[in-house]
Amino acid sequence: SHSLAQHDPQIAEAIRLETERQEYNLEFIASENFVSEQVMQAQGSVMTNKYAEGYPAKRYYGGCEMVDIAERLAIERAKELFGAEHANVQPHSGSQANMAVYFAACKPGDTVLGMNLAHGGHLTHGSPVNFSGKLFNIVSYGVRRDTGHIDYEEVERLALEHRPTLLVVGASAYPRTIDFPAFRKIADKVGAKIMVDMAHIAGLVATGEHPSPVPHAEFVTTTTHKTLRGPRGGMILCREEYAKVIDSNIFPGIQGGPLMHVIAAKAVAFKEALAPEFKVYSQQVVRNARVLAEALVKRGLNLVSGGTDNHLILVDFTGTETTGKMAEKALEKAGITVNKNSVPFETRSPFVTSGIRLGTPATTTRGLKEAQMEQVADWVVRALANMENEAELAVIKGEVREMCKQFPLYAHLLK
Ligand code: PLP
Repeated sequence: SHSLAQHDPQIAEAIRLETERQEYNLEFIASENFVSEQVMQAQGSVMTNKYAEGYPAKRYYGGCEMVDIAERLAIERAKELFGAEHANVQPHSGSQANMAVYFAACKPGDTVLGMNLAHGGHLTHGSPVNFSGKLFNIVSYGVRRDTGHIDYEEVERLALEHRPTLLVVGASAYPRTIDFPAFRKIADKVGAKIMVDMAHIAGLVATGEHPSPVPHAEFVTTTTHKTLRGPRGGMILCREEYAKVIDSNIFPGIQGGPLMHVIAAKAVAFKEALAPEFKVYSQQVVRNARVLAEALVKRGLNLVSGGTDNHLILVDFTGTETTGKMAEKALEKAGITVNKNSVPFETRSPFVTSGIRLGTPATTTRGLKEAQMEQVADWVVRALANMENEAELAVIKGEVREMCKQFPLYAHLLK
């Protein structure tokens, strides 16, 4: 049999280059992580060949006994990990998990109260360019200008005024702990259901580094590939009373055949997340973010809300010449991967922005700790002070590469 390199040298080369990029750069994109080789093995398995429309023991295809084993394990482990009554592990992505909940909880045209994209919310929480903004009447809440924390008084005021069917809680760029009981109280005042999208913090929730939304929400959605460190995909948790409506809104509602190889990989990742080492990892993610935030503040940078409680940091360049776009580019040349990000009360376009977002899940997986975070803060500040100085950025990139060699990731795959 031919290796991929012989069979398709162009794709093999792209994969080799991507492996090198991941190996020799510092990955600070807050929504990314590095899965284990076992997760990749399951995802690269023959389960990709199988059609399995339906759910375990209730399939529309023959030959599903083996994939049923995988899906049942994924479901049982997910329920154990989050203390949930029901889990649907079939969503192909976080966006599809959210779409299924919208369709389960609302009719088109219903009012949905969600977090403003510019204040940290996700596209699927009501952006006009997304299905959510097109199909529902969206009202948005945000953070307080003075603290950068969610404005719970505004949430309550908007809820009382607009009486939403669904209250959407959760974010892609919010560095603080979310008060789920506060949202529950507000939802109960107006008879709204709650969807918590815990995509960013799922790994922290699994280990108790962030309070769990599960007791406070009818529906909890997540991606499986961020802090949770599984394959790219989505999941929905809910109480037993909503199991049927959730399952039918995934299949046949918005999806056909589930990705059984990805579901098998989700099961492997959930097993890893149930192990004691994952708790140690998760604690280190939060500690690293705190140390990095403090180190950046000490070096003169402004952070939204002044710091972080979780895995991510939002640097705010408002009032300076620096834009998120420029900073992202300079840091990339220095071997540090981040993304430009809008900040609350943004004055620049989404293609330029006034912020960058940094997260610690990926570098913590490869073993970086507090001492390395101090060093990273030095590099970030040096790169931002030398955005036009290609030579200096290249020097930093060389130093970053040396650190990466001390914390090997998939280095053996490059041999
Ligand atoms: N929800 C939140 C809070 C997210 O941050 C993201 C991804 O960035 C998603 C949902 C969407 O996940 P996916 O990219 O898998 O559709």
